[in-house]
This record gives sequence, structure tokens and C-alpha cells, in this order.
Amino acid sequence: MHQTGESQPNKNDLILITGAGGFIGGSLARYFRDRGFTRIRAVDKKPLPDWYQRTPGVECLCLDVSREENCRRVCEDAVEVYNLAADMGGMGFIERFRVECLRSILINTHMIEAAYRAGVARYFYSSSACAYNTELQKDPHCRALRESDAYPAMAERGYGWEKLVSEMFCQEYWSERGMKTFIARFHNVYGPNGTWDGGREKAPAAICRKVIEAKDSGSGCIDIWGDGSQTRSFMYIDDCTLGIDRIAHCEDLIATPINLGSSELISVGDLVTLAEEIGGVKLRREYKLDAPTGVAGRNSDNTMIQRVLGWEPKTPFRTGLAKTYAWIAQQYQDRKAGRRTVRDTI
Ligand code: NAD
Repeated sequence: MHQTGESQPNKNDLILITGAGGFIGGSLARYFRDRGFTRIRAVDKKPLPDWYQRTPGVECLCLDVSREENCRRVCEDAVEVYNLAADMGGMGFIERFRVECLRSILINTHMIEAAYRAGVARYFYSSSACAYNTELQKDPHCRALRESDAYPAMAERGYGWEKLVSEMFCQEYWSERGMKTFIARFHNVYGPNGTWDGGREKAPAAICRKVIEAKDSGSGCIDIWGDGSQTRSFMYIDDCTLGIDRIAHCEDLIATPINLGSSELISVGDLVTLAEEIGGVKLRREYKLDAPTGVAGRNSDNTMIQRVLGWEPKTPFRTGLAKTYAWIAQQYQDRKAGRRTVRDTI
């Protein structure tokens, strides 16, 4: 699987994952465990019973990594660090809680210094397509974003600027201090075990849930944020975890931000149609034009990842959405039956 330019990690090295009580961090812990890694330390500030996934054999710690002393503690003996902790959510969250998003700067600032002091070999940072210049995203059919489009900078208010500055930390820790850092700009990630209700969920999960609710209540209608013309690309979680592994072990990508996203452009209207087809229902659409929608259009230009890794996220959206829908439908039933489900609140 690993090609030239990619290094092979030792399966007994201690891997640290922050944000592991959430969607991507939890999935990454499972990914590495499934590949035979024996020492995985997972950290999140959420109490352990609230973690989305707990993988057997993984050390799970409830600690706040915006605090320096906790960062030092969790980095002890770590060989690789994957920093996925952030206060984040879909547009409804990041447009309303910009201060919270900006305060995630404390997480990366303390984590990267602690990793450096602990002498870790590799440090991975989860950036976002929200770091790109918003001026380039004013049309639903604007061209896909290349890595160079972050500068001149005009990132998404709050969340996007935090990502951009944290990327800069990663680049300078390599150039000034010689620690190998890796930076992926994720484009909307979705799949089972992600947030699907409570205010932090993103469009694919929110639309699946609304279709399931409409079927259950028999309301016959669905509300849509905006006019449905906004476009995005959505990456299935399995592509995301594999991509993180490939990027973090590629010597050609040290301190080099790279897109990690699908290049299949989908409008919100298309997303609703797909979810309706999967759910076997047709709903009346009510457009909420004053709801948060983010930029008009955004897609991932995958020229660089293709060139460097000979790979790009490929799960067709229809395939990934069907799996996500099935998982949310089960969560919905479980919640109705009073069983424990994945949940997060604002
Ligand atoms: P998530 O909200 O499911 O997980 C993030 C986790 O970080 C949460 O469990 C939260 O409790 C934890 N956390 C927050 N502050 C913390 C702190 N101070 N100490 C310890 N834990 C803390 O989100 P996710 O979708 O898994 O996102 C993971 C990373 O990927 C984030 O950095 C996010 O910005 C980035 N990202 C995600 C997407 C996406 O579509 N999901 C897109 C772009 C970037």
C-alpha cells in the first residue's frame, strides 16, 4: 500500500490521537487498531461514556488539551501525534460560535509544543477547506480549490482563521525546529459515527436525519437551509482515515498543506434528492433563506494529492450516503427506544 516517499511506521510505536471522542479521531483510533498498532492513546475532553466510539485495546483518557500541562502528559512517550481535537461543527455552529472556534488555537499551540518537547517523530494537524480564501467561493460552480488558494488570505471568519494560523505553527515547527509536521485540509467529512443531531451536525447527516424524521412523523416536508443551490464535496470517513495515514507517512508532504477531500461536487438540492431516494420518499421542500449556509460553492482540486500519493478519496457519494443514512436511521430508532446514542450538544 505504501509507495516510494512513504515511510512505514512501527506497529509498537505509541500513537496519540486527540479529539478521539469525536467522529474522525474515534474512527482513526479504530483504523490504526485494525491495522495492528498495539499502542494507541486516545484523548478527548468529553467524559468517556459520551465518546462516539471506544475501540477495545485503546487507552482512553478524558483530558482537556487546551491546557498545557495536559498536553505534556498525553505526549509522553508518543512517537506520532494526530491532533484532531477542535471545538467545531457544521455551518450552524461555526457561524454562531466564532469565539469558541478561535479558542481552538490553544489546543494546537500547546499540543505542538508538547509534541516537540517530547521528541515526537511526526505531528499531524487536521486543517480545513475553511482556511481557503472565501472570495474564491462566491459561486456554486466556482473552480475547485488548489492548495495555493489559501493566500492571499481571507479565510472563513473564526474557524477558518484558526486553521490557517495553526497550519502556520506546523510549518514553522518544521522549518525552525525540525519537527516533521503534516497538514491536511479536510473537505466535509461524513459517515457513520459522526454527529447527526444537537446543533453541530453537518449537511449530509442533518439531511438524512430530517428525511428520517419526516418519514416517521408523516409530515411530508423538509426544511432546507438556503435555497439548495450551495455546492460542496463530501468525503466518506474511510477515505479520510486512509488519507490521514498516507499523508502523515509521506516524506514529500512535510509541512505542506494538502487537500484531503472528494472532488465530486454536490448541491444541497442534489443531496436532498439522494437522501429521499435512499429513504424511499418524496418531500415538499421548504427553504429557510435566513439560515446559515456558508460559502456558495466549494470543491477540492485533487491534482496535488494525485501527483504525490497517486490516490484520492474515491467513495461515490451515493454509496457513502446510503451507509450513513442506514446508521442514522438506526440511531434514531435507538433514541426513540431510550437506548444510548451518539450525541453532542452545543
Ligand atoms: P468532532 O466534533 O466530532 O470531534 C472533535 C473532538 O474534539 C470532540 O469530541 C471534542 O470533544 C474534542 N475536543 C474539543 N476541544 C477539546 C479539548 N480542549 N481537549 C480535548 N478534546 C477536545 O469533529 P470531527 O468532525 O471529528 O473533526 C475532527 C477535526 O477535523 C477537527 O480539527 C475539525 O476541525 C477537522 N475538520 C473536520 C471536518 C468535518 O467535516 N468533520 C472538516 C474539516 C476539518
